[in-house]
Amino acid sequence: MVAVTTVLNETSNFVEPAPSALLLLGQDRDLASERGVECTGALPSPSDPDLVERARAAREALGDRAFVLGHHYQRDEVIDFADVTGDSFKLAQRAAARPEAEFVLFCGVHFMAESADILTSDAQQVVLPDMAAGCSMADMAEISQVEEAWAVLEDAGVAGDTVPVTYMNSTAAIKAFTGRHGGTVCTSSNAQVALRWAFDRVGGLDGTGKVLFMPDQHLGRNTAVLQLGMSLDDCVVFDPRKPGGGLTEAELRDARMILWRGHCSVHGRFSERNVTDIRAAVPDVNVLVHPECKHEVVTAADMVGSTEYIIKALDAAEPGSSWAIGTELNLVRRVARAHPDKQVHYLDSTVCFCSTMNRIDLPHLVWAMESLVEGRVVNRIVVDADDAHWARVALDQMLALPGI
Ligand code: SF4
Repeated sequence: MVAVTTVLNETSNFVEPAPSALLLLGQDRDLASERGVECTGALPSPSDPDLVERARAAREALGDRAFVLGHHYQRDEVIDFADVTGDSFKLAQRAAARPEAEFVLFCGVHFMAESADILTSDAQQVVLPDMAAGCSMADMAEISQVEEAWAVLEDAGVAGDTVPVTYMNSTAAIKAFTGRHGGTVCTSSNAQVALRWAFDRVGGLDGTGKVLFMPDQHLGRNTAVLQLGMSLDDCVVFDPRKPGGGLTEAELRDARMILWRGHCSVHGRFSERNVTDIRAAVPDVNVLVHPECKHEVVTAADMVGSTEYIIKALDAAEPGSSWAIGTELNLVRRVARAHPDKQVHYLDSTVCFCSTMNRIDLPHLVWAMESLVEGRVVNRIVVDADDAHWARVALDQMLALPGI
């Protein structure tokens, strides 16, 4: 997410900040990263009056050769052309179940397209309409950092007693690391089952074994404390930017959940104060938040669940009931429109879209589809064979979890 700051106070002691080392989205400052990549073709203008018609024509021309996936957090203009909508794992599974689709256009972010490439056949090509659509959370765990962290656990003598569990929102390289070390992938819907499975491999919940949970510290903490009955003291945060993760060997030995220091830039914005304010403003409001929110937000809320859970909860809600939802704004707006008989509020007082999800817009989708019609595959996502193999091992382990 990109923060835009407006300077209101023009006092004379304002100091010009040093140039930021951060990459700017859409500017070609680091071609090795999806974050800095410009579109390689001529994008249609967003104001082209024929844009929707061009999208329809290209979609029709591609027919069953293409399958367009739309993540729940995508813009409406993109969702209008999606053959299926869902969370990242459901979308990857749906793509794998459509082997006749030669092209899978993934309207989501980079790690999702990687998972789709891993789960689809070699004959299918996955396209991400804008290569700058990364995920700030996934970017918070780089494979070199995770390998160094594992070495720290080995030095502390706890690696043999630790199972890695990685959230879907991670790069293919992190999923592959997890597969190589006997762990599993999880989603926000099945994190509890995945953690129980992982602890069972190292002596059970009452033992001394550990889980290294990546990259979202909040999902890991919320699941361990609220669903597995652990205490906050059982959790430590491994900061990859500090020597030894910022933890002593004794802290590592005593911990049960070693949480990677990562978070979602969208869900991390919600605060306990948002919950207090909405309760004061809207009597009898039901506060429903995503488990990527901070622990104090989740404990202050009435309900917590994945995007699919949020959609189902609103479908099942009583007419006339009031809701405040803490997740990405595109989804909340669509849920609100689908339920005009219910009062749906956005939990944050300021609006917040996922800026990287929003990189995918209609001009990029039209460009990608028209290129395919012309016989050019653009922005193809390909995971290298070894990573794909081991990431698949971790994904298959998730599918083999009890009750999944
Ligand atoms: S909403 Fe958060 S986790 Fe999802 S893609 Fe955006 S930054 Fe990543």
